Amino acid sequence: MSNRTLSINDTIYHYLLEHSLRESAILRQLRAETANHEMARMQISPEQGQFLNLLVKILGAQQTIEVGVFTGYSALCVAEALPADGRLVACDVNKEWTDIARRYWKQAGVNQKIELLLAPADKTLQKLIDKGNANSFDFAFIDADKTNYFKYYEQCLKLIRRGGIIAIDNTLWGGDVANPDINDDDTRAIREFNDALHSDSRVDISLVPIGDGLTLALKQ
Ligand code: CA
Repeated sequence: MSNRTLSINDTIYHYLLEHSLRESAILRQLRAETANHEMARMQISPEQGQFLNLLVKILGAQQTIEVGVFTGYSALCVAEALPADGRLVACDVNKEWTDIARRYWKQAGVNQKIELLLAPADKTLQKLIDKGNANSFDFAFIDADKTNYFKYYEQCLKLIRRGGIIAIDNTLWGGDVANPDINDDDTRAIREFNDALHSDSRVDISLVPIGDGLTLALKQ
């Protein structure tokens, strides 16, 4: 028994996966293909994908946003949880990575729910705001360039409704955020982002130590 969050060693992690992971065959294939990719560490963990899927269902989300698609694992987890007429606006700039994503989305039969926009995410989000889509989304997942996290967060906060959730990935950053000797741009950006959210009264928050740290911010 423990009254603080457990450190997850390999034995406990494997237990968690073996006794709770429900990963579809397509998600498993996509994860296997991405594992050979030079940027494989950018993929979220499978239990985190399942958590996002559950979160979307709890919210009853229909309109969703993803900032940072990579090879499409998290988008597939979210899209599988959306109703048939649900939508995921997926923002990325990399055609090569998202071509892999598109292939799997099609195979899973969710491609009609996903609108992939290849452009800098801040431009895409600003267009959505300018076109009158503020307060109309239920859920957003931010997992892209860390130095722009705060910008994406502010834009997503405009776009989601009250009671909607923004999930932000990598907020524990491999533990580097807690190491004062590490001060590269990404680490500093995440540290500043975490501190800004800590005192942001517009949202209720929880930093969930799943994967590399996933902060949930609920818009009040
Ligand atoms: Ca990530």
